[in-house]
Amino acid sequence: MREMTVRTRFAPSPTGVLHLGSARTALFCWLYARHHQGTFILRIEDTDRERSTEGNVKAILDGLQWLGLQADEGPIFQTERFGRYKQVIAEWLEEGKAYYCYCSKERVDKLRADQRVRGEKTRYDGKCRDRSDVEEGVQPVVRFRNPLDGVVTIKDQVRGTVVFQNSELDDLIIARSDGTPTYNFTAIIDDFDMKITHVIRGDDHLNNTPRQMNMLTALGAEPPVYAHLPMILGSDGAKLSKRHGAVDIRDYREQGYLPEAILNYLVRLGWSHGDQEIFSIDEMIKHFDIGDVNHSASSFNPEKLLWINQQNIINSPTEYLGQVLMPFLKEIGLDSSSGPTLQDVADGFRERAGTLRQMAQSVRYCYEDFEEIDVKAAKKNLRPVILEPLQAIRGTFTTLPAWKRSAIAKAIEETAVSFGINMGKLGQPIRVAVTGGSVSPPIDVTLVLIGKDKTIARLDSAIEFIKARRLQATD
Ligand code: GLU
Repeated sequence: MREMTVRTRFAPSPTGVLHLGSARTALFCWLYARHHQGTFILRIEDTDRERSTEGNVKAILDGLQWLGLQADEGPIFQTERFGRYKQVIAEWLEEGKAYYCYCSKERVDKLRADQRVRGEKTRYDGKCRDRSDVEEGVQPVVRFRNPLDGVVTIKDQVRGTVVFQNSELDDLIIARSDGTPTYNFTAIIDDFDMKITHVIRGDDHLNNTPRQMNMLTALGAEPPVYAHLPMILGSDGAKLSKRHGAVDIRDYREQGYLPEAILNYLVRLGWSHGDQEIFSIDEMIKHFDIGDVNHSASSFNPEKLLWINQQNIINSPTEYLGQVLMPFLKEIGLDSSSGPTLQDVADGFRERAGTLRQMAQSVRYCYEDFEEIDVKAAKKNLRPVILEPLQAIRGTFTTLPAWKRSAIAKAIEETAVSFGINMGKLGQPIRVAVTGGSVSPPIDVTLVLIGKDKTIARLDSAIEFIKARRLQATD
């Protein structure tokens, strides 16, 4: 048999934004298509006119774009396909695959309530299934005529084989009384028309699948392969929600996460490849397979996400890192033309930032003078004993022909040796003097970034500071 071309779809409803759960679904659909050189389709399921919003459509499209999960086809909006849905409903009514149901909402509600009291599964009782008369003055709904007996077997790629009895499924409403089609129906028409081969989605849709398969059979179609992804839970075991952190994927962009890191984190939620944690996009595409997805729920761990972000920052190409850092500097009012290049700071700081936002905060002293030195750091490092070594290194710095790491490191080392102290004993006071605090990249890197003139000016201030303190102490 000729191998079929894989076609997957991500089918979000714009009743909400793109969040971690839906982004993971999109990622798995995208990866599966990429892995098999197939096609990834984006379908916006916007038939719920009351709850769908333009803002959510934008959130989904922006989020996917930021993550780099571009669709090969689409976005296709279901609201633009109403004609097609109407046509199939008419055909099914004609062929007896669907029927008009005139039962009032009150009757159906009461039916359910009575079934609940009797401890039965709630279901429509099929009252109108074999009715052929028309009830004047009532706008009927349309129901799918589900088979009464037999079973539907799902060979789910994640869950394994799941069997449903048709006797447990009732006749689903496929068109509301105002004529608008419902989710399960529009989904299968689209899966069929779009020639979807693999439906990868959240396992909250597992219960819909037997009905969808029955409807596909009614269409004369072969059902696609299904893979239902387990839920993502918060660390407290509850369904992931706002309470567990950012919900809109765009919030992570704001917070300074890299899109590659989000994808890297998401790919590991329920999927593994040996014990590898850090994946490039190419590695994900190469190794991803839907059969390797774990069937138990995975839980969201913000510390791990931060760690993965940090690893991705460490591994990112310099130019890229400089580019993505730029908006974060702007946001806090730093002008990158007033100091080192963005690439140089990104390189200097990549080892020590969890997020781009944190990185921007910590590079401030490369661009702006600080108001005052951190009190604790000053107390510990800017003491009278270090006055002379600082004066000496200041002098040596002024004579250096080139402001380069190697020359700076050599000058510090030689000065330290000449005072009989180790390099750290001099390096740390220099760091405090030029950054105003006690943490920074290696001292030679830090000084290169700050630049010669600012370094000397700040050493001068620190020297004055120590002298003033010495005076105070002797007063
Ligand atoms: N629109 C559905 C949702 O957002 C997804 C349907 C599907 O993947 O079949 O939950």
